Amino acid sequence: MFDHLATVRERPAWQPIPLKTRAALSAELPLDPSPIGSVYEEFNAHVLPYPTGNIHPRFWGWVMGTGTPVAMLADMLASGMNAWAGGFDDASTLVEEQVLHWLTEMLGYPAGASGVLTSGCTMANVIGLAVARQALTDFDVRAEGVRGIAGMPVVYASTETHIWAVKAVELLGFGRRSLRRVGVDIRHRMAVRALHEAIASDRARGCVPICVIATAGSVNTGAVDDLGAIADLCRRERVWFHVDGAFGALAVLSPKWRDRVVGLALADSLAFDLHKWMYLPFDVGCVLVRDAEMHRRTFELVPSYLMASPRGVAPRGPLFASRGIELARSFRALRVWMSLKVHGARKFGRLIEQNIDQAHRLAHMVESEPRLELLAPVSLNVVCFRFNPGNAGPPEIDSLNEEIVMRLQESGVAVPSGTRIAGRFAIRVAITNHRSRSGDFDLLVSEVLKIGGAISRTEGSS
Ligand SMILES: *Cc1c(COP(=O)(O)O)cnc(C)c1O
Repeated sequence: MFDHLATVRERPAWQPIPLKTRAALSAELPLDPSPIGSVYEEFNAHVLPYPTGNIHPRFWGWVMGTGTPVAMLADMLASGMNAWAGGFDDASTLVEEQVLHWLTEMLGYPAGASGVLTSGCTMANVIGLAVARQALTDFDVRAEGVRGIAGMPVVYASTETHIWAVKAVELLGFGRRSLRRVGVDIRHRMAVRALHEAIASDRARGCVPICVIATAGSVNTGAVDDLGAIADLCRRERVWFHVDGAFGALAVLSPKWRDRVVGLALADSLAFDLHKWMYLPFDVGCVLVRDAEMHRRTFELVPSYLMASPRGVAPRGPLFASRGIELARSFRALRVWMSLKVHGARKFGRLIEQNIDQAHRLAHMVESEPRLELLAPVSLNVVCFRFNPGNAGPPEIDSLNEEIVMRLQESGVAVPSGTRIAGRFAIRVAITNHRSRSGDFDLLVSEVLKIGGAISRTEGSS
């Protein structure tokens, strides 16, 4: 794996899976043993060569982290120990508590907050919203369910909020109609006045506002909502203030750019990922909750078979199981602990800063090239743009750019992904990649121009 990481730049970012690998990976259940050497050869032949591509220096699709050798080693140690990280009295618990304290400090979140590591930011966000549901109901919502709420509950998000919010309102029993999508301004930030009006008109109709979900680093464009203004409004309206900072929250580690995410510390709950902008291997996210007692009250359940004993392995019961849904958990804290110790928080800050600088440089390149158009302002690390030959209608430009993205991916040169910005198809580059160098973006731009030019020439001549 060290060789594999050291030579990652020499391989395609992604390559299509050949039929013989698809066949090899749909084999029958092995009833009898095989030598580990031959299984390892199969791994080398059929698994290792066909990754998503996110460890490659020119992978910028969706929002995926790159993984690090140190965390890889930590994972081997963690799997070897096979710790049950539900929170008994063992070193895995101390390591996770240590990591949670460090993350709280790194993000400037109030000391004394509670938290838990999660599989990712979807789960972290769901936990935050569950605590909001607990905090904003004055009866036993865990017993009665949401039908005990005196009116239709409402959760506010923007039209740019990530899809996790839909799953969360479905899962928590609010239902999808409870999710009020507030519009955004020209910088794709939640329109705070529209939010204010929505809360007022919902209250007038007898609805019960529960929570506002703000985003620090939106998935489409990297936009950061006005956290300070939304926090003020939530305090005045007595509504829970949740921040989804999946990748954007980590921008606080960059002295140069931290002003862009000011206000994280005002959140009642804050969710973020470490497998995106901390470059750690999947999967690890985190939620922090200001009111530790409320966090515990949302999830704690202590049956006799998990109760705390005065001494021995379980003097506090399953500590982390009382902060979320999962009981058995992997020792993912070790990879965070080792990574922060080996590299130090400042190095992560430098790399995050480098990624934001790269995004701004790419935006400049796009703006100075007549056949490229920037489709959204760049605030952090996401650049949305398109190729525009200048003589095509909107549907043709959309399909041309969709084709560019697919050809780039299939060529293995680079992996951006696609999205739509105000209805227009965009080539989307989200930079959470510590292996990217500035030349990688030069290559991206020249390939987009080359592919775009070739397609528009053949289409123009046909
Ligand atoms: C990635 C992302 C999520 C979901 O996080 P997962 O770790 O993929 O579950 C939520 N919100 C935003 C803004 C994201 O970028």
